[in-house]
Formats: sequence, C-alpha cells, structure tokens
Amino acid sequence: MNYLRAVLNSDQKNEKIHLQDLVKIGKKLNKNTTTYEKELEKLASNNQPIQKIDKVQKIDKIKKIEPLKKEPEYKNSTYNIDNVFVKDNQIIIDFKHYLKKDYIKFIEEKRGNKYLDIFDFNGRFKDASPTVLKMNGVDRIKIFQYKYRKLRIELIHRKNLKTIYIIGKKRIIIKVLDIKESKSNVTAVKTLLNKNKVIVIDSGHGGKDSGAVGDKKRYEKNTVFAVSKYLYNDLKKRGYRVYLTRNKDRFIQVKNRTVLANRKKADIFISIHANAAPKSVRAKARGIETYFLSPARSARAKRVAALENSSDMNAMSNNSQNTFLTILNQSKITSSQKLGIDVQQHLLYSARKKYKDVVDGGVREGPFWVLVGAQMPSILIEIGYITHKEEGRRLFVKSYQKTLAKGIADGIDAYFAKNQ
Ligand SMILES: [Zn+2]
Repeated sequence: MNYLRAVLNSDQKNEKIHLQDLVKIGKKLNKNTTTYEKELEKLASNNQPIQKIDKVQKIDKIKKIEPLKKEPEYKNSTYNIDNVFVKDNQIIIDFKHYLKKDYIKFIEEKRGNKYLDIFDFNGRFKDASPTVLKMNGVDRIKIFQYKYRKLRIELIHRKNLKTIYIIGKKRIIIKVLDIKESKSNVTAVKTLLNKNKVIVIDSGHGGKDSGAVGDKKRYEKNTVFAVSKYLYNDLKKRGYRVYLTRNKDRFIQVKNRTVLANRKKADIFISIHANAAPKSVRAKARGIETYFLSPARSARAKRVAALENSSDMNAMSNNSQNTFLTILNQSKITSSQKLGIDVQQHLLYSARKKYKDVVDGGVREGPFWVLVGAQMPSILIEIGYITHKEEGRRLFVKSYQKTLAKGIADGIDAYFAKNQ
C-alpha cells in the first residue's frame, strides 16, 4: 500500500524506497521479485540513486514500532467506548482497547416498586447523551455518562431480572436471561449503530470530465451526481455520517478522490458511475454491475476499468499496473467483495420494483484506480448503461434515481448489520 500510495502521488523517492523493501523482503521469503527489480532498474535509470542512509533509518523506525507492548493501555488512554447496542436479549458494549475484570461494576437496587440492575463501565461513550435502548421484555434501559469516565447502563423492570455479564477481549455483553431471543429489536438497534459509521460517496467524473455520453447529450456526470445526492440524503436519515467527494459539477483527479475518505477515516467508500458500451454492442448492453478492486481477470472488467480510469493514470504501463494490484491487501478485497454483494443484491431488488426488466450484471473484480487509494472496503457501482436507449433514458428519471439510491442504502445497511 505504501508503494501504491507513492506511485499515485508521483513520489519517486518513496516509490524507490518501497520497491527496495519489496525486493528485500521478497527475497527473504523466497518469492520471485524480478518484476519489482525491473521497475527498480527503470527508476534508477531515470534518476540519481537515492541515499542508502534514508532507507536504513526507515527500517529502523519500523522495527521499533513493531513489537506489541503488552502493558495495559487504559492507564493513560481516554477510555473510549466504540459502540453500544442491543441484540436480542443482549446489550453489547465494544471498547477500543483490551479489558480487565475490574472494568465493570454491578449494582442491584430497588427504587419504589421497580428493580434496577446497574452496570458501571470505565469509559467514555460519545453517544451517551442519555439514550434509551429498547429490548422487548425489559421496561426501560437507560444509558448515560454517569461520571466523566464512567458509563452507566440501567435496566429498570417491575420484576427482578436475571442478568449476567461476560467480559471478552474488547467487548462486554450483558445478557438478560428472562428473555427469549427474538429478532424484533433489529430496527431499534440500527440508528444507534449507524451513528458511528462514516460513508464517503464518490460521484464519478465532473467538470471538464463528463464521463460517458448517451443519446441527446446525456452525461454520466449528471446522473451519477443526482443519484449520489439522493443516496447522501437517504443515508443521513438512517443515521450515518456521510460525505460527498464533490457537491457540485467540478473536476477531481482520480488520485484525490479517496483522500477525503482516508481523512475522515471512513468505514466504506462508494464510487458511483454509469456504464457505456462500444457501438457494436450498444443496442444490447444494459444492466447494473458492482465492482470491487482487484487485478483484472476478465476482458470485460478490463474494458470497463479502462473507461473509468482517468487520463492521469495512463502514464503507467499495463504490466506495472497489474504488479501494483497483485500486492494489494487481501483482507480489504474480501470485505469489499462482501459489500459489493450486499449492495448489488439490494440495488437490483429496488430497481426491479420500478422496472421489472433490469438486468443483473453481477459483482465483478476490476482494476479501478479510484479504489486503490482507499484504506477501507470500497466498491464502484455502474448504475446502468447510459448508451442503451431505454436504460439511458431511465437513468435521468428522478423517481428511478431515488429508487437506485434507496437500493444502495439498503445494501449498505445489510452490510453493516452483518459486519460490525
Ligand atoms: Zn464513470
């Protein structure tokens, strides 16, 4: 990733340093490093050799950081609590650091004719203002910041409840044993959960870059912007923190599109585009496709990627592009694929409510540069073919744009419900 970042920033000095590291580490692991070595030679012939001292210092720094310190973090930490939510008969509290047994204190009380189960946690939760959590079978659950660094959860009920708590590595679970598990609480949980999730929506193209062009001068940049805006509003209503890479018709370089997402520490990055087909297949090509970043496997993915990868990336040879992509972090690819599957499924379901004949183009892998810089799960959605006569027309129908946005939002909900 460091290497990729250097390339995207045209930072040749760091490019070299990271290439050298790749070769060095690759050799130690008995991997074939000839591709990297060739890139290195190419770079070397362009420039003066970089100072070796630089590299040595870099490695030293990394080594110093790497060993895991096992001393308790909470001594001087700010006791941050990541998340509090209800699932069936459980209240789940997620911390940002490892826990000790004395992290939680349990008190039983009787107030009037009500029984109280009180749990005090060492920690601050930014959303405790106070909030009411809902669990079927418990009269009232209140959560509030009791002291500056003490979070309190009160379970209030007309009968004495049987509760237990379990301390995990970074999670505390309070279980109410009197309640059978059910799924009725899901919606109440949702908005509280979403509060902590950050989504960056990237509206494709803009300004001098109109993207694909359909009949009657229909520009891709306009329809994807409309859908992005609807999606933005929809997600906000659902409780997410949302940002747009562009809030008007303006040009943004591909490498800068993920900068916002990284700065806001977004949980997911969604790039929205509309597709175009070459003249020979224009009459037939239609449908919705979702891509996640990965080296191109199919000719189709390569073609779509070539369309969407903007001109500022053309300097790189195909071979080097593929080299970069193959070193990508596998875990991010996996979660991007999961996100892609959820979004594609819900998007299609929503679109077909309006037009039954919407084609499922599937979830695909593709080498999209706009996704490379993202440090979080990221996908690129092709909401339809602007070059198809009927689909191109629909992409500019307001009610359909809203339907598409709703579908994407439903998919995002589904992804977070499964991947907290
Ligand atoms: Zn596009």
